[in-house]
Amino acid sequence: MNMKQYVVIGCGRFGSSVARTLYKMGHDVLAIDSNEEIIQHVSDEVTHAVQADATDENSLKSLGIRNFDVAIITIGSDIQASIMATLIVKELGIKYVVAKANNEIHAKLLFKIGADRVVFPERDMGMRVAHNLVSSNILDYIELAPDYSIMEIAPLDDWVGKTLLEIDVRSKYGVNIMAIKHGYEMNVSPIAMDRIGKDDILVVIGHNKDLEKIEKQVW
Ligand code: ADP
Repeated sequence: MNMKQYVVIGCGRFGSSVARTLYKMGHDVLAIDSNEEIIQHVSDEVTHAVQADATDENSLKSLGIRNFDVAIITIGSDIQASIMATLIVKELGIKYVVAKANNEIHAKLLFKIGADRVVFPERDMGMRVAHNLVSSNILDYIELAPDYSIMEIAPLDDWVGKTLLEIDVRSKYGVNIMAIKHGYEMNVSPIAMDRIGKDDILVVIGHNKDLEKIEKQVW
């Protein structure tokens, strides 16, 4: 795997989870937060943890931020600090900047000042939980773009025992089955003759409107 250097700015609930996970995966992680207690808390689980104000360009410069491959700005509640930190890391030349937004306006601002990707962890998790609550057959729901998503579902009753060719979701619903999970195994390039088992899980990709048609059948 290509190991990269990540700087995580803001180590609240979301930021510290991103930082810990990247570190566990073997990457170099610098965690920055203005709160000393929070820094002490994460210091054993990242490469370096430093207390600094991310809205202070000189502090970030002195930490050598420009040498990092990716910056993740996870300051959420203080929108002004989130915007300033994003602007500074972008101006320092970090190639890929991911920022967390609290709402659509915040996201727009982040994109305008150069964020390469904006994430909405609370909104996305809310959506995933809501889809799963509506039907226990919908195991997960991940938005890819405003109108397109990936949905993990248990097969409809009349799909069980049939092949992908027979259920023909492409022409019936306009969606594609990307993968079939059988227990711990995963068929990531299913073919027309693959047969769907009762306990399989299907990973389906499509337009939200088309996925909704399938969702309604499993309610
Ligand atoms: P979460 O909901 O993920 O906990 P918050 O926005 O509440 O997100 O927390 C973001 C973190 O960012 C907090 O730990 C806070 O101390 C930190 N933070 C806020 N402003 C700054 C700043 N100017 N510089 C560095 N860290 C900051």
